[in-house]
Amino acid sequence: MYDLLIKNGQVVTPDLVQDANIAVKDGKIAAILAKGDEPEAAKVIDAAGKQVFPGAIDTHAHLNDPGYEWREDYEHGTAAAVVGGYTTIIDMPLQNEPALTTPEIFDAKLAKVQPNAYSDFAFWGGLVPGNLDQLKGLDERGVIAFKSFLGPVSPDYSPLTYGQAYQAMKIIKEFGGMAGFHCEDFAMIKEGEKAQKEAGNLTWRGFLDSRTPASEIVATETVVEIAKELECRAHICHVSHPAAAEKVYEAQCEGYQVSAETCGHYLSFTEDDVLENGPLFKCAPPLRTKADVEGMWMCVEAGVFAGLASDHSPCTYDEKFNEILGQKIENVFDVWGGISGIQSCVQAIYSEGVFKRGVDPRVLANSWAKLPAEAFHIYGKKGDIKVGFDADIVIIDPEREWEITADSLYYVNKISAFVGMKGKGLPVATFVRGELMAEDGKLVGQKGTGELVKRLF
Ligand SMILES: [Zn+2]
Repeated sequence: MYDLLIKNGQVVTPDLVQDANIAVKDGKIAAILAKGDEPEAAKVIDAAGKQVFPGAIDTHAHLNDPGYEWREDYEHGTAAAVVGGYTTIIDMPLQNEPALTTPEIFDAKLAKVQPNAYSDFAFWGGLVPGNLDQLKGLDERGVIAFKSFLGPVSPDYSPLTYGQAYQAMKIIKEFGGMAGFHCEDFAMIKEGEKAQKEAGNLTWRGFLDSRTPASEIVATETVVEIAKELECRAHICHVSHPAAAEKVYEAQCEGYQVSAETCGHYLSFTEDDVLENGPLFKCAPPLRTKADVEGMWMCVEAGVFAGLASDHSPCTYDEKFNEILGQKIENVFDVWGGISGIQSCVQAIYSEGVFKRGVDPRVLANSWAKLPAEAFHIYGKKGDIKVGFDADIVIIDPEREWEITADSLYYVNKISAFVGMKGKGLPVATFVRGELMAEDGKLVGQKGTGELVKRLF
């Protein structure tokens, strides 16, 4: 007897849309059966009229645990993830106290967060100027990739110069790891901000003009060139502009192992949202023009992105509107940069893509499950609906209309740019390794179900 049978649904995988039943045993997909073939199972879910997708992988989330649990923690962040349709999240090493830069810190973080996890999770390892001798040890512990910045980000985390990035990637290449980067050229955004401030443009227009697409494209191209020369795997985080995506695509066409993700907000919002609504829509790189968003969707459809991430960057209300760690917010440049979206991205992406733009749902299965699983070397366990894979599944009701409310969010701080957004097509059930974790927008699974995911090779 099977543990679970999901029947009558339309199963959407990267290659195929088919009416099929899915049988699950011991957390794995055990059989994919013709519709009507209904073997005995302990639990049966009728997915008639719904689409059954591989669970989405959030390649980029900041859960801030340990250290800043008043912004977010594993309990709330992974609850929000499963309610929203992400079954695995890859958590960032910074905005942690301490930042995840040594094997000992890895052990302490894992021990603290695993008992509170609802989704499966992997760790990005820290890559900062002082820890190049720790990278191999971190890789052996199980970090899935290494994250670094090219400009200042937070007090707990120092950026790399391009020269340091080169040296680090030389080391990472040796053990087959992957380096991920926040790509905005620091020299350009520093001068951009200075110029806007000197001109007295302390406005949202001034903020947008301080971080133009060129700074993102230049940094992306530089990282891609380093990765190509060293033949090191590289991942470009949160691409916001199609011209940056093109740099990645070109390298992929040349056969290099360079991947990139984009985020729900870059596929849903434009710079007009920043200009009209301000703080909640501030992120870096910033939101782009309407035409850029359409260009980003073309890149999604072309299969450029390995990950439709949240870049969930939680903060308190005060950090958006009043003060950050005792520092009063004087102008737009001081406002916390980051959007909370781990619960909302999957439905926003589905609605913006499939419902509004007629995107083939297989494109989403490919971009939010298979391609990220391949890029992070977890395909085979995660990333598809195939026999032997973990039964990580999200069921979407394509007809369900929704409006996101603050009350519905599982975050520690129930503030988000996505509040008030309306759309169609909603995750109505999420399974992690065959366990029903969320149903109809409510958390139903057990805390501690989530497990650490390491790369397979
Ligand atoms: Zn981030």
